[in-house]
Amino acid sequence: MTITSQTSGSSKGQKLEVRSPLNGELLATLPIHTADDVNAAVQRSRRAFEVWGALSYKERRTHLLDYRRELVRRMDEIVDIVHRENGKTRADAAQELLLVLNHLTHAANRAESLLKSRSVSSGLLANYRSRVSYHPFGVIGVIGPWNYPLHTPMGSISYALAAGNAVVFKPSELTPLSGKILVECAQAAIPIPDLMQLVTGYGDVGAALARSKVDKIAFTGSAPTGRKVMAEAAQNLTPILLELGGKGPAIVAADADLDRAATSIVFGSFMNAGQACISTERALVVDTVYDAFVAKVVERVRVLKTGADEHAHYGAMTLDRQVERVREHVTEALENGARAVVGGLDSIKGRFIEPIVLVDVSPKLKVMCEETFGPVLPIAKVASVEEAVRIANDSNFGLGSSVFTKSGGEKLAEQVHTGMTSVNAVAAYAAIPGLPFGGIGESGFGRIHGDEGMLEFVRVKAIAYERFPLPGFGMAFGDPPKVLAQVRQTIKALYGGSAIDDVTNVLRKLVGG
Ligand code: NDP
Repeated sequence: MTITSQTSGSSKGQKLEVRSPLNGELLATLPIHTADDVNAAVQRSRRAFEVWGALSYKERRTHLLDYRRELVRRMDEIVDIVHRENGKTRADAAQELLLVLNHLTHAANRAESLLKSRSVSSGLLANYRSRVSYHPFGVIGVIGPWNYPLHTPMGSISYALAAGNAVVFKPSELTPLSGKILVECAQAAIPIPDLMQLVTGYGDVGAALARSKVDKIAFTGSAPTGRKVMAEAAQNLTPILLELGGKGPAIVAADADLDRAATSIVFGSFMNAGQACISTERALVVDTVYDAFVAKVVERVRVLKTGADEHAHYGAMTLDRQVERVREHVTEALENGARAVVGGLDSIKGRFIEPIVLVDVSPKLKVMCEETFGPVLPIAKVASVEEAVRIANDSNFGLGSSVFTKSGGEKLAEQVHTGMTSVNAVAAYAAIPGLPFGGIGESGFGRIHGDEGMLEFVRVKAIAYERFPLPGFGMAFGDPPKVLAQVRQTIKALYGGSAIDDVTNVLRKLVGG
């Protein structure tokens, strides 16, 4: 979903007004940076990178754990900012912070062992020593969304910093204060000015960052904006990582533990008012357990409360446009045979949408195909798990999914075309820092979190070192007829159908290596 700016354009002197979705209160005004400001920030970060990138992993780890300490010290302030700026509950905001701390710790601890130089087999060139080494890119441009304003950017920033990069961060125009406090904490804890910088404004500030001289862009947001960011980055051939939207399916098999499935899917659907890229956006339930499952869902959803107070299970929709999208999807579903068993169109009153559960929903409807991003759970009946997998995979998106079954859950998980699947749970992969996070198709490419996420933020260097010359295996010209004869003989010996198939071992024996 693309947000169009309430006020467009950016020029010196203009201010970004940050208002709370809870009550419209003006929370702060921030600068709208220009493209020149963005370029200057990138240049400053490059100087910071020269210092940060030269530190040892141990030194960087110490600084990152100081950063973590500062985030913990300002915990209540951070939770309050996210609550007031994004509209989510304080409990949701605190959970986000917990995930951030988890990633920061994991990245700080993991960087040295993952990124140390490693040897690889030299294969045919057994007289060589071969080594792979990793080097930070330099400056990473991070562009983040509003729905998880701490967790999504820090899922990139933690790993980018741990790998030795500097960061310029552009938060969503809706949640710049959350971005600001993340940057303030880094600046307070790490005595390298400009190592992590904030640029604020609307989409054009993100676009300026994407076409600046950053060394890589890590973008999290919608698929339409992802396309634009990629086009900007293409101008400098800047590598890019895209974390985009999703239409997370949950498959409930006939042998599933229905209590567990209902409890998990309700959480997956309504957490953060459904405004999560890995929300359970559609449930596909095998017909023999359909009625029983729906009854259990209804029982659990009826007790959910939305609001701004401490007892609310989920908070506000962050922007009006989202409310209209929910209305559009629910209206179309109700006009095309779906029934609301909890809530309905009346549940959509302003920013706080009461939970809605739709049943008998055709898989072709918008609520089953497009990202709804709201507190709506559509449930469809399927004849078999095979049919559920087919429908789940018939999507342009492929981010998160879940499967519920007592037998063969991991095998079933492998059949679902998404980057991540939880078995008998929802969204668990996002909370496990060692697991790579990302999607396929219109959900983007590249990974954040885990080893794969850290490797996104390094250049890979290959080094081949000749330990001693080996006649016929050197990188030098020889007598062409002799070379041809020798190579033909080698091909026959190694690959000509003899019992010998381990090339490396044969050559090792030859050279005594
Ligand atoms: P948007 O795509 O609208 O915006 C994302 C970011 O891009 C914002 O900072 C936005 O700035 C900026 N931006 C807007 N236009 C441009 C441009 N032309 N060039 C560069 N940057 C630009 O996404 P939302 O903020 O609405 O976030 C919701 C989306 O994010 C959903 O689709 C959701 O599924 C997805 N998401 C994906 C996640 C994942 O990890 N895969 C995680 C969380 C969300 P501004 O706000 O100032 O316009």
